[in-house]
Amino acid sequence: MATNWYQQTVAEVAHTLDTNITQGLTAAEAARRLEQYSANELIERGGRTRWQILFEQLKDLLTLILIAATVISVFLGDVLDAVVILAIVVLNAALGYSQELRAEQSIAALKQMAVPRVRVRRGGAVQEISARELVPGDLVLLETGNVVPADGHVLQSINLRVQEATLTGESEAVDKSADLVYASEKALADRRNMLYSGTMVNYGHGSMLVTDTGMQTELGKIADMLQSVEQTKTPLQQRLDQLGKVLTVTALGLVTVIFVIGVLGGEPIHEMLLTAVSLAVAAIPEAMTAVVTIALSLGAQRMLKRHALIRKLPAVETLGSVNIICTDKTGTLTQNRMKVTVLDIANRRIDFTQRAADNRLALMVDKAAPGGRRVQATLDLLLVGGALCNDAILARENNEQNSYYTVGDPTEGALVLAAAEYGILKNELDAAFPRIAEYPFDSERKRMTTVHQLSQAAAMASPSLRAVWDRKLVDRVPPFLVVTKGALDGLLTLTQAVWSEGNLHPFDESWRVRVMDAHNQLAQNGMRILGVAVRGLDHAPDAKAVKQLEQALILVGMFGMIDPARPEVYAAIKTCKRAGIRPIMITGDHPLTAHHIATQIGIAENDLCLTGEELDKLSESELKQKAKTVSVFARVSPAHKLRLIHIYQDKTNFVAMTGDGVNDAPALRKADIGVAMGITGTDVSKDAADMVLLDDNFATIVTAIEEGRIVYDNIRKFIKYLLSCNASEIAVMLLGPLLGMPLPLLPLQILWMNLVTDGLPALALGVEPAEANVMARPPYSAQEGIFGRGMGSFIGVMGIVMSLITLSVGLWAYRRGDAAWQTLLFTTLIFAQLALALGVRSEKRSLFQIGFFSNRSMAGGVLLTLVLQLIVIYTPFFQRIFKTTALTFRDLLITVMASLLMLAVVEAWKWVLRRKT
Ligand code: ADP
Ligand code: MG
Repeated sequence: MATNWYQQTVAEVAHTLDTNITQGLTAAEAARRLEQYSANELIERGGRTRWQILFEQLKDLLTLILIAATVISVFLGDVLDAVVILAIVVLNAALGYSQELRAEQSIAALKQMAVPRVRVRRGGAVQEISARELVPGDLVLLETGNVVPADGHVLQSINLRVQEATLTGESEAVDKSADLVYASEKALADRRNMLYSGTMVNYGHGSMLVTDTGMQTELGKIADMLQSVEQTKTPLQQRLDQLGKVLTVTALGLVTVIFVIGVLGGEPIHEMLLTAVSLAVAAIPEAMTAVVTIALSLGAQRMLKRHALIRKLPAVETLGSVNIICTDKTGTLTQNRMKVTVLDIANRRIDFTQRAADNRLALMVDKAAPGGRRVQATLDLLLVGGALCNDAILARENNEQNSYYTVGDPTEGALVLAAAEYGILKNELDAAFPRIAEYPFDSERKRMTTVHQLSQAAAMASPSLRAVWDRKLVDRVPPFLVVTKGALDGLLTLTQAVWSEGNLHPFDESWRVRVMDAHNQLAQNGMRILGVAVRGLDHAPDAKAVKQLEQALILVGMFGMIDPARPEVYAAIKTCKRAGIRPIMITGDHPLTAHHIATQIGIAENDLCLTGEELDKLSESELKQKAKTVSVFARVSPAHKLRLIHIYQDKTNFVAMTGDGVNDAPALRKADIGVAMGITGTDVSKDAADMVLLDDNFATIVTAIEEGRIVYDNIRKFIKYLLSCNASEIAVMLLGPLLGMPLPLLPLQILWMNLVTDGLPALALGVEPAEANVMARPPYSAQEGIFGRGMGSFIGVMGIVMSLITLSVGLWAYRRGDAAWQTLLFTTLIFAQLALALGVRSEKRSLFQIGFFSNRSMAGGVLLTLVLQLIVIYTPFFQRIFKTTALTFRDLLITVMASLLMLAVVEAWKWVLRRKT
């Protein structure tokens, strides 16, 4: 019988799973269980096996027809032909197989990168491991924004609220509790003491005891359902699929015409059948989608090297079309290395960087001055409050005395560090004044509140707190202290009084002006500001009433923090503007702070700035109008982000949007390119995103866009090349007989051509380096058709020109009665195709500008193909197979001249393009 974990208490579950709920599993036991239960992952049923891929190559309808045609030729006595055709079919399948396999593998590797990390307690210590390594019995710590990594029983819930829509379809988040036990059977949605893999922690934090992992989880049981949604095709792939169908029909039509003409012209039917099928195989661009996938996944790998992890492959292709980037400020544009530089309490500002180095406990306050001691006491409270109402963890660098660092949110870390430098250690504070309730930070309120139990005895036990306590802020210390810290403008609306120099002053208009003046002075210089307010309580608050505590607050003071811009952002913004991409800052920070930074790094070109509050007052059309010129949005919440995406997204705009929080997920999904933060981002936001910045850096978005543009350019080059070649082959076969010669090419020759030219040169186009102007031109529209920007006419013209050049050479030799006419024609066409490959390497620039060797794969591919063709012409073995004859030196020269002529035509085309712009 399956265990119903939800009908057991935590202790019972721990007993069943043989684990310790304070220490967790030992490393050895965890390793043993990983063996036993295998990795915590859903088995990919969506992915294809090697055999499936191979089979797909073979079952290709045309290949089958070709095989059938081969069998026919065997019966008709053409054994050599049959063997070679089979060999080429196998080679073709091998090429397709290796291309598809490579695509499949690199996509799998990308997925692997996306496995989240989780925090577990093992052997008594918290450590971070990959979610794959979780085993039943593990203790997992969870916080807002985590995706629950396995099924488990709730161990501790501090306001833990979970969104379980993936499993239950219910979008309303559910409160979880550790203490519940159910006597009767309950549906999944009603098990309030359980957490399920794939659901999302929306709020609060806590821990769980893992009961099931991998395919044993509830998610694993329905995994079949989920996996079918995976790989979506990119817009280009979809259009290519469609184009492929049209081309297939067209090619088949033309091939039929060629077949009929041939038969009417007296060619043997079975010979013509083979020719027709070979031509169809060559002309149908079946490799196109595979090569596009390879180009995309290679692009994704290059992006990964540059710290952009692609979660959805279509993003690689469409990134290049981005023309608006809506970006966060903190951590993305700035370094997120917060440092407190100013403390400001009513009537007093202290430069925190200037404090006496030898005297940690005293700030630069002249205690002899009137009220000096009182000022010091207020500062104590500001620092204590900032560190108490705080989730960052203080750690000591290599056990050195006064060298600290913090773990957690950098803003909070800065406050903890400031207190530590002043001599107040967060861990001692937490021990002395334990947190008994909290109302966590969220980006709508932009503040958080904690409630602490105060006790003199506990304070006295800590050397660093004793001095603070002795300086005594108020005569009567309340048993409980509420501390709220957050955005000052919001905090002031809840403030009733100000603490200044030992007295409580009612917070009236004149105080409001004084405090806001002080705030604005700091914010104008780009400082991030956090206010701290407190409130005494006589009774411990009811857990349900915590939200009501944020009122009647006493303002203590504020912290001013600097967070310098990332140095590489300046250049990235310049690149954006040159590349026709508009950067827009959307931040929760104060408008003055935001605008200062935006101006500094070049995002803001005017004085305009809109706040969330102002946004709410604007109508759709008003906002649309303003959005054209405003580049800084401040004090916004995630809901505003969604609205802004809505405003900016239209036919002409393709919008990238960054986000890190749980509430950012809808905006990330709505954006054309949703960008999540790898370091500070929540699992939920990463899940919703198309791309994850492993370094949280704005500049990385710009590099990814550049890579995206390169990939898209190269895909176009490749399609241009492939389709021109196919067009030329069909045209040669169609026009040849009309011009009075026999079938220009034999089936084997056609297949050979398809193999060598589709193979190396085509793949080499996929790794063509960036065009010189790749980030100096406006983006191309994501809606652009495949044949947009002159590509259709290029393909048509080049296909015709190539076939005319080839036919002229062939016809000239044929009329002269030269026995080598067919070899000459065959070789001319192959060489012309190589010349075309070199020609299409750049959209506009000439081969001489970009240099023959600047794409080594192409240079190698072209040379190798040349050599292979020479072998086909000059070795007796291949001469027999391909029915070729050795060309004289003069004839060889003619083929080279013909291909140079082809190159000249392509170069002329590009020259005209360069002239036009
Ligand atoms: P950003 O868009 O720059 O990332 P945030 O959403 O992080 O902005 O912060 C918005 C505002 O919320 C900040 O200006 C600050 O006043 C406040 N705030 C940020 N972090 C905290 C925190 N940990 N505790 C309380 N208030 C915070
Ligand atoms: Mg933030």
